[in-house]
Amino acid sequence: MQHYPESIRALIRSFAKLPGIGEKTAERLAMHVLRRPAQEAEALAHSIVDVKQKVRLCVDCFGLSDGERCHICQDLSRVASLVCVVEQPADMIAIEKSGAFKGVYHILGGTLLPMEGVGPDDLRIRELFERIRRDEIKEVILATGTGVEGESTAAYIAQRLAGTGVSVSRIASGVPVGGDLKYIDKMTLKCALDGRHAL
Ligand SMILES: [Zn+2]
Repeated sequence: MQHYPESIRALIRSFAKLPGIGEKTAERLAMHVLRRPAQEAEALAHSIVDVKQKVRLCVDCFGLSDGERCHICQDLSRVASLVCVVEQPADMIAIEKSGAFKGVYHILGGTLLPMEGVGPDDLRIRELFERIRRDEIKEVILATGTGVEGESTAAYIAQRLAGTGVSVSRIASGVPVGGDLKYIDKMTLKCALDGRHAL
């Protein structure tokens, strides 16, 4: 590492901060950047700056978006009265990749963790209920993880929606207990959505 000029060392240090990238890989990436044409390096640097400047949370679903509302919420072919509630943007992306869902999403931003002091007010649960009223949501699919926290979060929301006339279901078969949605393959996720059961 000390054999490189400082500018290269700085780039190696930056790459090495990325998840899953050790110093050897960081070194290889830096040398790769060095070998490629200047435009390619500029495009890479530009994309990195761009995501930090442009990406924000959609005002409706709290998913990642380049504008005020994300492309899914703006898509008129989606069923706006059907909302799939997930923990994180990565879960929404996983369900989108499965192609099994044609409604819209609501991202909670985590799960209830009473032991760690994370209560309903720390998640976007109030926003979910406001949205259900405002957008006349008819069906809610609770697609939080199948671990204890995901289950209790789903149970809490289901309980609060009981008697409101909104149909509530929970993703089912196929998702392993303790499963994190983003690691589940497309087919399993599709079955889990298709096989959801009413709560
Ligand atoms: Zn959105």
